[in-house]
Amino acid sequence: MSAAARPTFRFAPSPNGLLHLGHAYSALLNFEAAKAGGGRFLLRIEDIDPARCRPEFEAGIYEELAWLGIGWEMPVRRQSEHMADYAAALARLDAMGLVYESFESRADIRRAVEARAAWPRDPDGAPLFPFGRDSMGAQERARRHAAGEPYALRLDMAQAIAAAGAPLDWAEEGDGLVRADPAAWGDVVIARKEAPTSYHLAVVVDDALQGVTHVVRGEDLKAATSVHRLLQHLLDLPAPVYRHHDLIRDAQGRKLSKSIGSASLKEQRADAVTAEEVRRRLGFG
Ligand code: GLU
Repeated sequence: MSAAARPTFRFAPSPNGLLHLGHAYSALLNFEAAKAGGGRFLLRIEDIDPARCRPEFEAGIYEELAWLGIGWEMPVRRQSEHMADYAAALARLDAMGLVYESFESRADIRRAVEARAAWPRDPDGAPLFPFGRDSMGAQERARRHAAGEPYALRLDMAQAIAAAGAPLDWAEEGDGLVRADPAAWGDVVIARKEAPTSYHLAVVVDDALQGVTHVVRGEDLKAATSVHRLLQHLLDLPAPVYRHHDLIRDAQGRKLSKSIGSASLKEQRADAVTAEEVRRRLGFG
């Protein structure tokens, strides 16, 4: 079977913290599905944000996954080494007239939203961008650009949806076709002055470049798939099949995270928990 014909799965952590049980679950689901289907398993390091990513967390990813008995293809794709790929995709969207520079700060956005009685929020709970592409006029934007002010590059969502032409769906394993609703996200940030990408853009470019056929990830990313599907369509990229899995929660029902003090795999190892116990607890006998 050629590489292109084989089902291809990936686990794509961001090295901005230690892995916990939720990561182990996601990684094992992908790894075991690839193994069962005679497919490929890729590891991708999503390190586009230098302010939050640390080499020791990346080292921890390799160590903890190997400890769990997971093996991956080499070389590992590290997003920070592929900015030119994202810049090319961004240039393509820009050439379609779908991208604009927005100079409004987080504080500007907060103030504008507070001044309104009710303002819609995106599926992650953040207020939709309350200014449009014409909020300050071309001249003022050019002045700020020339002055070196920071900006975000946003997708003009109404125009992007119009450019797509028809409503888009994605294939969700177990659920059939799901209708994408990118409008729910408003004018999302797809790049910044200092980096020609955002999570949304890098993830669709990489899944396509790496030949990923199956995206298995937490249900907290399901709503973002609407944006990903739209970007795939606009950039002529193939759409993988998706499966958004339940999140592993703590005894209080909270999603595991560093901020609520969830035990990392590293701490569990230090407490003499074995990889077999972790695998069993997560249902991988
Ligand atoms: N890097 C993302 C995260 O750590 C996952 C991206 C994805 O699976 O699409 O949450």
